[in-house]
Amino acid sequence: MAQKFLIVGGVAGGATVAAQIRRNDKESKIIMFDKGDHISFSNCGMPYYIGEVVESRDDLLIPSATFSKKYDVTIRTGSEVTGIDRQNKQIRVKHASDTYNETYDKLILSPGASAVVPNVTGKDKACIFSLHTIPDMDDIHSYTKANQPKTAAIIGAGFIGLEMVENLHALGIECTIIDRSDQVMKLVDKNMAAIIKDHLIEKGVKVILEDGLTGYSNEGKTIQLNSGNKMQADMTIMATGIKPNTKLATSASLKLGNTGAISVNEYMQTTDPDIYALGDAVETKDLITQTPTHTALAWPAHRQAFVIASHLNGGNIPYKGTLGSAVLKVFDLTVGATGHNSASLKKLGYTFKETTLRSYSHAGYYPGSEKLWLKVLFDDKTGTLYGAHVVGFDGVDKRLAILTTAITAKLTVADLPELELAYAPPYSSPKDPVNILGYKASSML
Ligand code: FAD
Repeated sequence: MAQKFLIVGGVAGGATVAAQIRRNDKESKIIMFDKGDHISFSNCGMPYYIGEVVESRDDLLIPSATFSKKYDVTIRTGSEVTGIDRQNKQIRVKHASDTYNETYDKLILSPGASAVVPNVTGKDKACIFSLHTIPDMDDIHSYTKANQPKTAAIIGAGFIGLEMVENLHALGIECTIIDRSDQVMKLVDKNMAAIIKDHLIEKGVKVILEDGLTGYSNEGKTIQLNSGNKMQADMTIMATGIKPNTKLATSASLKLGNTGAISVNEYMQTTDPDIYALGDAVETKDLITQTPTHTALAWPAHRQAFVIASHLNGGNIPYKGTLGSAVLKVFDLTVGATGHNSASLKKLGYTFKETTLRSYSHAGYYPGSEKLWLKVLFDDKTGTLYGAHVVGFDGVDKRLAILTTAITAKLTVADLPELELAYAPPYSSPKDPVNILGYKASSML
């Protein structure tokens, strides 16, 4: 029977779930709301447009009319959903100066997350930015064009901070990255993060660790740090984290989980079975430990969209959990991580062993062989893999994909030497670094 589906949020989770529903169901009405002016844009490409690696802004956007025609979805941009009336199964929508109600059979929430900016003095000045939306990207892009900044401070050495360093550096801007922790990229362990830090320094980036931002003065151009030190920067990027957008869910008394994100079951239903949620706004289970996790990455949003569309179509494919597999380019280096690191395992009280291998991407005699570092963390008795990090200049994503597959398949370190990974000199060695890592780790059991 034809139904009416309303979707809040029209980007990674929202647009994907709309397309997935339409693939299964040609009859139902689908209306997608986004408070912004764009849908289905590539958040992940935004740093590269700023750095002029992606030349055309249009390459990051899918016009609403194209999407609407392709998937027969009604799109309402500039439309903020401000409330959910669960009893009458309707939402409240604000569009320009108008507000109206729209009824639903099923409602899907994909409102994403928002950038968290510490509440310090001077944070609202014109040269201080965060990067989460297309308008954020446009602001940074026009600022760099109009003001030709010579120096930039990047606060926060996680994903977005590191991608912004690379892209501002590509514009000839001298960058300083600042993080209050004692390492960059907390997703990986300290010994792997040290490789990233060295590479940043090699590229001329100034790295300040164990020092945090306390405020701005001089129209945002002087940055004050915890240590009492001050530095000057023509512009600042605040890459200080995100928080899930849960306002709609809480105002409708939908349950939040331990992490503060929206609680959902294995089919992505909230505590109201007629309301689903996905993406950066939801809490899922860690695939390995089955503990609650809030992971803001594109793969989970896309997989969850598939799970919801199947469930709406009568299927029962569960979302099994999130590993948090992530990959990132930092200048010439690629950094990958999947599963847990030492800090998260210690926090959960797991006992584990770890080993790191320094190797090469492929046979040393074949041109272009590059250094490669791999690390695994594993159960100290059974050898079951808990997490892996890979850092290097070539062949990183391939090893990360192998280790991600191994963790998903619940393989142990003793299984890694048994993987018959294809070899020819331009690609690997007869024993791939993953095999050698497996031999090394197994010998510790
Ligand atoms: P979003 O894609 O953020 O969409 C949420 C949408 O909901 C927004 O458009 C918002 O306007 C709308 N909305 C919110 N509230 C309302 C409301 N009340 N009414 C109407 N509309 C509303 N992930 C990766 O895996 N790899 C990467 O390389 C990567 N790079 C990234 C780079 C940047 C700069 C950023 C910001 C993110 C990156 N991510 C990356 C994360 C990835 O983009 C997100 O995990 C993904 O977009 C989450 O999808 P979502 O649908 O939950 O939220």
